[in-house]
Amino acid sequence: MELKFECPTCGQHISATPAQIGVTAPCPNCKAAVTVPARQDDDQAVFVLPTKLPFLKSHRKKILEAKVSELVSLGPVDESIEAKLQDFAVALGLEKADATAVLTGRFTTEFEPIKRRMESSFVLTDSDLEEIETLKKKYNVNLTLSRTAPLLRAIYLLESKHELPPPIQVDLF
Ligand SMILES: [Zn+2]
Repeated sequence: MELKFECPTCGQHISATPAQIGVTAPCPNCKAAVTVPARQDDDQAVFVLPTKLPFLKSHRKKILEAKVSELVSLGPVDESIEAKLQDFAVALGLEKADATAVLTGRFTTEFEPIKRRMESSFVLTDSDLEEIETLKKKYNVNLTLSRTAPLLRAIYLLESKHELPPPIQVDLF
């Protein structure tokens, strides 16, 4: 096999055989001493990306959270967007569930003021329900209100007996 390299002094293209590797001879063009270099395997080198990115998991979560922010800002999250976020999480070396957890976490944060309002007034108003519906769509979170409504009633009953109401538990899935 023929080796091709360049004279380091003048750039002349030079050919040599593998048997000549390490041999020093004058360049045919500039006569400077040229040593035949070892064969370069650059074209055969395979660059393999690590399966899991080498940075910290918390950093990956931040990237995922940024992606969630980006997608949420574009509009309500539907099934296909959530699926894309899950794929994104997996590409980052995280779990699919991490994407869902970020969505649920954001929902919970935004739901908190509504929850507090419900807790302080013991009333679930139509506008509360509307806000909750909007939040559910925004983060593609399925909140079961049918199980929350009886709970509100239970809290009301407790209050009427002058007992402290427990915090409202909400089923997120
Ligand atoms: Zn030369």
